[in-house]
This record gives sequence, structure tokens and C-alpha cells, in this order.
Amino acid sequence: MDAKELKEKLCYEAPHASKKMSADDISAADSFCEGYMSFLDAAKTEREAVAKAVGLAEMNGFSEYDPDEIYPAGSKLYYNNRNKAIILAVTGKKGLKEGARIVAAHIDSPRLDLRPNPLYETDGEALFKTHYYGGIKKYQWTVIPLALHGVIVKKDGATVNVTVGESDDDPKFVITDLLPHLAAKQMTSTLAEGIKGEDLNVLVGSRPFDGSDEAQNIKLNILNILFEKYGVTEADFLSAELEIVPSFKACDIGFDRSMIGAYGHDDRVCAYPALMAALDSDVPEHTIFCVLTDKEEIGSEGNTGLNSAYMAYFIKALAKKEGLDGEAVLSLSKCLSADVNAAFDPDFPDVFEKNNSSFINKGVVVTKYTGSRGKGGSSDASAEFMAEVRAMLDKANVCWQIGELGRLDAGGGGTVAKYVASHDIEVVDVGVPVLSMHAPFEVVSKLDVFCAYRAFYEFFRS
Ligand code: MN
Ligand code: MN
Repeated sequence: MDAKELKEKLCYEAPHASKKMSADDISAADSFCEGYMSFLDAAKTEREAVAKAVGLAEMNGFSEYDPDEIYPAGSKLYYNNRNKAIILAVTGKKGLKEGARIVAAHIDSPRLDLRPNPLYETDGEALFKTHYYGGIKKYQWTVIPLALHGVIVKKDGATVNVTVGESDDDPKFVITDLLPHLAAKQMTSTLAEGIKGEDLNVLVGSRPFDGSDEAQNIKLNILNILFEKYGVTEADFLSAELEIVPSFKACDIGFDRSMIGAYGHDDRVCAYPALMAALDSDVPEHTIFCVLTDKEEIGSEGNTGLNSAYMAYFIKALAKKEGLDGEAVLSLSKCLSADVNAAFDPDFPDVFEKNNSSFINKGVVVTKYTGSRGKGGSSDASAEFMAEVRAMLDKANVCWQIGELGRLDAGGGGTVAKYVASHDIEVVDVGVPVLSMHAPFEVVSKLDVFCAYRAFYEFFRS
């Protein structure tokens, strides 16, 4: 055996996915990503992602969970948690007695929420006060076209859906920044300080009602437009969830069109493949659950995040129908926490440790643990479960790689994995590597997106 052969036998290296994928696989990846890109444009918020998932699920024979119904093998159902999180399930041949197969991704993304009392007028402008949601670099949110998405719920319970800034002839919004000519002081501040939270005010108008120059008439004009369009008054902002997101559409990146640039890859780039894998699952062996959850970006908090019991309650309810102990079912279950990881960026090599980083185009990333410092806040997957996942991916010829979030002591982060693990479920993170993660415009590789779909599909079959 020469050195080259011995190297192949003994050494580990994840190749470029195109080396392992056939031409057919590569074109399948490209067409899969067309569906993904329209999903990105149609589902910029968690509520829109749930609405889209419900639509696709119903088209594929799923119906809303009915607590009184019995579900034989092959039943397709979904549980809608407050229109902000959803669980799709397909009941398996074995039911739940040997545990479930769960893929959990999140559908919230970093953004700017409107404050409860957002609208104000100052110095000839009407603006919205925002409160950032999730981890953002604040300066990235200035001087880009923005859209407003969300709901306003009136006192009588009627819900008004709002989407402004998405179609070509829609107006857009923007957060202004200082011209360089006058930015001498700003340019000496840190990136963290140059634009502060209180500077993230969205420009929404500049003409007064009736051309009158009385104070507050620019604000009044905006309120009048909102009243005429939606029938809402200023007090209705108090019961609203309105989100400012980039108004860009998803697009191909690169001469070779190998990548996708878009807002909100984290974590729709795992949520969409997980959803498609569930829709494409025939009658699985074990009952499968595709969990699309909310609030991951702020620590999985609240009753629509996975730090709540809603997923466990749903699985326990189905277990009860089979006469099983729900907690025993959870203990036998296995989960892929489907979330993104940071792709190695050659512009910033100092924060990565190359041998343990993920790279775009090397397939789906299996992240044994996340967290920060000494694995703080992490769910560290067992060697046994890692072996199982490795074997499953290799057997199905799915390109995959390992990855840590970055160099030690450079920072860190977490996923839903630890909240899944808290139910005694076996769990590991598996997702897509992302460039410019949490920026208003993130980049992923199309081959990696397809590898994620194939990984989740195989896991549901396992
Ligand atoms: Mn994420
Ligand atoms: Mn994130």
C-alpha cells in the first residue's frame, strides 16, 4: 500500500460535495433550491413560515391534529402552536413504542420588532422606534431597504395582517446613517457603538396631513393612512407583533450560481429541508415529527419556543392514544436539532480553527456540541449517537462534515438541542453552514441545502 492509499484508508477529510455528488444530484440540488428560494420570499417571519407550512402540509394530505381522533400508521397531521410554531407528524408502522424521530428547526430570525408605542414625529420626519430581536450587528441594519410584516390584533379580537415593502411597487422603509463627511467622530467608535439600539429608528413618512405645518401632523398623516388601509388607530399598536425585515428577495450568488443570498437562512435553510423531508416521507417505521419552532434567537423562550413543553405535550398526547407512557416514549426518541453553523470565512480566519470548522459546499454540518467557553450552555451529543448519525449519513451517501462554532474563547452560541435534551431525548445538531450569519443578507451553498434535505429524509426513514 503506498502513502496515498494509506492516507485514504486512515485519514479523515470532508471533500467538496460536488466530488461525491452525481450530475443528476447536483441538478436535483439546484431545483430543490428554487423551491427553497420561493419559500424564503414568502416566509420572512415565523407566522408566515407557519402559514406556508400549513398550506404545503394540507396540499400533501396532512390535516390539523384533532385530540379526539385515532391515528393509524401513515396518518399525516399537524399541530399549530399559536400560528408561530408548528409540528408536522406522520405516524409510523411501529407507532411510538420504540420512540420517535424528530427534526427540530426554528423559523424566527434576527430582526427589528416595533415597540408597543412605536410611531413618533420629530424634525419633519415620522419614524418607528424598534427593539432589536436576536443577535444583530446594529450597523448592518442601516441604509438597506426594509419591509414591515406582522399582525395587529384589535380589541375585538380581529386580526389585521400587514405586509408592506415586498412587491416592486410597494413603498419601502429605511434607517438612515451619517454621511462620511460628518462622521469623523462616529468612525472612531467601535462597530458595536457606531450605531446603537436607540439609533435603529425606521423612516416611515415626511408629509403633513392636509399640508398643514402644525406640529405632529406628519405623524397624523401616517396614522390616517394606516386607519384608511387597516382600520387601526395608534392604540392598536399596543396589541401588535410588527417586524421590520430586509425587503430583499432571495437570489443566486456567484457567476456559477452555486450559492443563495437571502435574509433569514438561519434557520429557514434547515426548516425548509426538514419540512420537505416530512412531506416526502411515506409511511415511516417510527412516528416522525418535524418541529418548526419560534423564539430560538432569543433563547427558545416563551410558549412558542422549545424551552416550553409544547413539543413534549404533543408527543405525550399521541403516545397516550397508543396506551403508552409519554415520558418513556420521549426517553426512547431521537432528534436532529436542525440549525445552522458558521461557515469558515477566509476574510476572518482568526476566529476559526480550521481543522474543526465547517466550510460551504462540504455538506451538512454535524455539530457535536455548541455553547461557549468550556462548552457552557451546550448539549454535548454522545459518542454513541454521533456514531449512529455518521453511519446513517455515510450509508445513504449524504455529504457531511463536522464543525465547531468557532475558535475557543472567540464567542459562542446555542441551539434548541439542550431544550430537546432536557426531555431525555437523544439529540445532535445537524444543519447548513452559513456565511455572514445573522446579517440581513446571509449566504449558503445550494449543495449544502440539498444535503440537509437528504440528511433529514434519511433520519426520518431510520
Ligand atoms: Mn439558528
Ligand atoms: Mn441564529
